[in-house]
Amino acid sequence: MLPETATTHLKTDVLVVGAGGAGMYAALEAARAGADVILAERSLIGRGGATVMAQMTVAAALGEQTPDHWEHHLADTIAAGRDLCDERLAAILCEDGPRRIREMDAWKVGWAREDGHIRQVQAPGHDRPRCVYVDFLSTGPAVSRTLRTRLNDASGIRRIGDLLIVDIAVHDGAACGATALHISTGRIVTIAAKAVIIATGGLTRLYRRNSASSNMGGDGYALALRAGAELIDMEFVQFFPIGHLAPRLVGMDPIMWDPFRYKLGGKLLNSEMREFEESYASRDIRSDGRYVLTRDLATYAISKEVEAGRGSPAGGAYLSFQHVPPDEIRRAFGPVVDRLAANGIDLARQPVEVAPIAHYHMGGIRVGETLETRVAGLFACGEAIGGANGANRLSGNAITEAFVFGARAGHHAALHASKQSIVWSPDAVGPTMDLLRRATRRDTPNTAAVIASVQSVMSDKVGPFRTDGKLRSAIESLAAIGNELGSDPIASSPGGVDPVLVDWLDLRNMLLVAQAVALPALARTESRGAHQREDYPGLDDGWGIHQIVELAGAKLNIKALSRRVAA
Ligand SMILES: Cc1cc2nc3c(=O)[nH]c(=O)nc-3n(C[C@H](O)[C@H](O)[C@H](O)COP(=O)(O)OP(=O)(O)OC[C@H]3O[C@@H](n4cnc5c(N)ncnc54)[C@H](O)[C@@H]3O)c2cc1C
Repeated sequence: MLPETATTHLKTDVLVVGAGGAGMYAALEAARAGADVILAERSLIGRGGATVMAQMTVAAALGEQTPDHWEHHLADTIAAGRDLCDERLAAILCEDGPRRIREMDAWKVGWAREDGHIRQVQAPGHDRPRCVYVDFLSTGPAVSRTLRTRLNDASGIRRIGDLLIVDIAVHDGAACGATALHISTGRIVTIAAKAVIIATGGLTRLYRRNSASSNMGGDGYALALRAGAELIDMEFVQFFPIGHLAPRLVGMDPIMWDPFRYKLGGKLLNSEMREFEESYASRDIRSDGRYVLTRDLATYAISKEVEAGRGSPAGGAYLSFQHVPPDEIRRAFGPVVDRLAANGIDLARQPVEVAPIAHYHMGGIRVGETLETRVAGLFACGEAIGGANGANRLSGNAITEAFVFGARAGHHAALHASKQSIVWSPDAVGPTMDLLRRATRRDTPNTAAVIASVQSVMSDKVGPFRTDGKLRSAIESLAAIGNELGSDPIASSPGGVDPVLVDWLDLRNMLLVAQAVALPALARTESRGAHQREDYPGLDDGWGIHQIVELAGAKLNIKALSRRVAA
């Protein structure tokens, strides 16, 4: 056992966990409704998650350049979600989207404009040009900067970075705060709150190759489960087929190739420098004769070429624009060509390597229309929630979802807090305090290696293409890894920064969340959207249901829920 750790106790009306787009919006809206807010972030405020990394587009039926209505956006969202969207949530997303995009415009985010109108471009899956952006590949950084500036100007919001929320505190069935570890001092912090909002983003760190930051290990899903909330649609992890693999690309979005591939007809080549897409059939032919595989088929085709030993050196496929004249590349890529050049990449002369990478999570915490979970006073928003996007997310919906659900969760949490007094019980944090105090110095297992093992299991067996055998083996491996890790935290230093303890706490969450993905994936014996079973290739109408995951004692239970009930 380490020496007794210092503790700090704080109080607030609304505690927001995670300061990405959703968390920052939630904090602003809760403060606007009169609540005192603590915005807790394990990394730097507004710089730790996916929001700041997103560089492409945001979907909303503004009708600025082409007539549009939010119901058209909703129809596209439901079609992309393969008939599994929670239509109440999807409707809120589409109806409130324009209001939030205009609010961000008024806050000077800098949406690209044309002839005085906010410019709206076509993106895959949308029936008309609907997606706004900030030039050039700057959408996420501009969104984060704008929200950070608003936070600077707002009163009533305490921003605390480096604060890792370890568990939500629950008393008499209601959320009453949280226990946290202040990463840079090693101090334990308890926070009493009248309402708590989980805005911790997704789970892509569970996979070896992913598009987001190392803070995205699915903490929020584990926090919710342990607090007594339910998760929904956890089997639906979205993989992006042509994520950047090699050469090294600094300061650029790993999913940036998609629009350029569409625009310029980039060719996917295997190690024999042969185009292989045609061999995987079902291709969509464009009017100009260029063909593009749908995202799931492109993922399949690349995975199969690699399996057959025809992958590129880094384990993916080549993406080549060498057949396109350099001036056309410059016209299409604009200043991006210079950023690529700074990374030593000249598309006119060399292909890049791409591969499927984990990108976004459709599943998440189950909430109702006020964004409250089944635990009173516990709210969730952003990528941390499930349901709105069904089995597959429409492009551009994720940032809209962060704004819309963030604002809504902030508003309702503040409303809830205004009717409550602080109900704080030391018992509510007792088990987590005990856990943290049980941290002992040990040399084994090596937590960094264990994280890599979890990522291998998830990538190899719960990746884009699943089978009964792979999933069962994954579930066994995850249990074995959990046993090896043990139930007492490992620490490396008494007080101060302790990366090993943080790894252990991350693993505690990652292992729980990995199982919460693998178990419903095993149960769902069909292929739908992002959940593709090689042993059950077709969509099965009987599976038009949600699966709910809950924690009962130490065990995860799966329940089926008819779509009608959810909607
Ligand atoms: C590279 C990339 C490109 C993308 N491009 C687009 C796009 O063009 N359009 C689009 O719509 N979507 C895009 N997405 C998806 C979109 O960016 C995300 O879904 C969205 O930004 C999520 O916002 P969020 O606030 O819910 O989560 P995040 O922005 O991920 O923020 C979550 C925050 O919670 C913090 N956190 C996590 N756990 C804890 C804890 N235990 N304690 C305290 N803090 C914690 C994290 O550090 C992080 O800062 C992209 C994603 C990526 C990764």
